[in-house]
Amino acid sequence: MDKNELPVSIEKVSKRFRQGASYVDALNEVSLNVSKGDFTAVMGASGSGKSTLLHLIAGLTSPDSGSIYVNGEDLTKMSDKRRTMFRRRHIGLVFQAFNLIPTLTAEENILLPAMSDGRMKEVKLSFLNLVSRLGLEKRIGHRPDAMSGGEQQRAAVARALVNQPSIVLADEPTGSLDSVNGQNLCKLLRELSDNDGRTIILVTHEPSVAIWAKKIMVLKDGRFIDSFDTVKFKDSHSLAAHYQSIVESRIPTEIAV
Ligand code: ADP
Ligand code: MG
Repeated sequence: MDKNELPVSIEKVSKRFRQGASYVDALNEVSLNVSKGDFTAVMGASGSGKSTLLHLIAGLTSPDSGSIYVNGEDLTKMSDKRRTMFRRRHIGLVFQAFNLIPTLTAEENILLPAMSDGRMKEVKLSFLNLVSRLGLEKRIGHRPDAMSGGEQQRAAVARALVNQPSIVLADEPTGSLDSVNGQNLCKLLRELSDNDGRTIILVTHEPSVAIWAKKIMVLKDGRFIDSFDTVKFKDSHSLAAHYQSIVESRIPTEIAV
């Protein structure tokens, strides 16, 4: 696989955080290749390094070592300013917290990334498409506090997509949603991969969310310990059982001989 032709290709990436007098290896020589239109879910317990991995791919933090290629360009070689511009153009980010600006309407929130990029004209059509696809037509003039949790998350997703990024990164995006809204958001992410050819990387610890992906990578203590396709699982319970068996069967690296 040529890293220059993949949307995301990271090689032997490590990231260590200092915690008081000690430190934690959030990621330990992690490698990951993602092809165009893939929908990959990274599963792992709390503290396994999922958010750190997404932040690195988004260029929000830098690794201690290793390379991170996004759409053929090495993020670790860019200046901070160039990396920010690059992120706005290529990556849509969806977080658990909606992070909408409370004083702006839904429309203003959604259009914010396009405004900061001077792309208001170019995104007009994609804005209208997104609003109708996400069922936000009637809510577009409302401020976040007048919207339900599901509507706020859909507005946050529209904001992430308005610049038509080729890559969407989602960090526990259903964590603040009820199960119906959560499943609707998962369905939308799947459609973005199946119908629009967007590349999706989602991190979650929930099997009912992960099953919407095509492929699952299992992260434990900052390392990938296994990966499998979701197609052979008929429901999230059987996927959960398989995931549990993987996580429990691996001896922690500290005590492995
Ligand atoms: P996850 O998203 O899977 O819960 P994280 O990537 O947030 O895991 O964290 C992985 C490990 O790195 C955890 O032990 C966490 O405490 C630590 N960590 C993450 N970010 C920081 C930080 N900014 N400073 C110190 N430690 C951090
Ligand atoms: Mg996290």
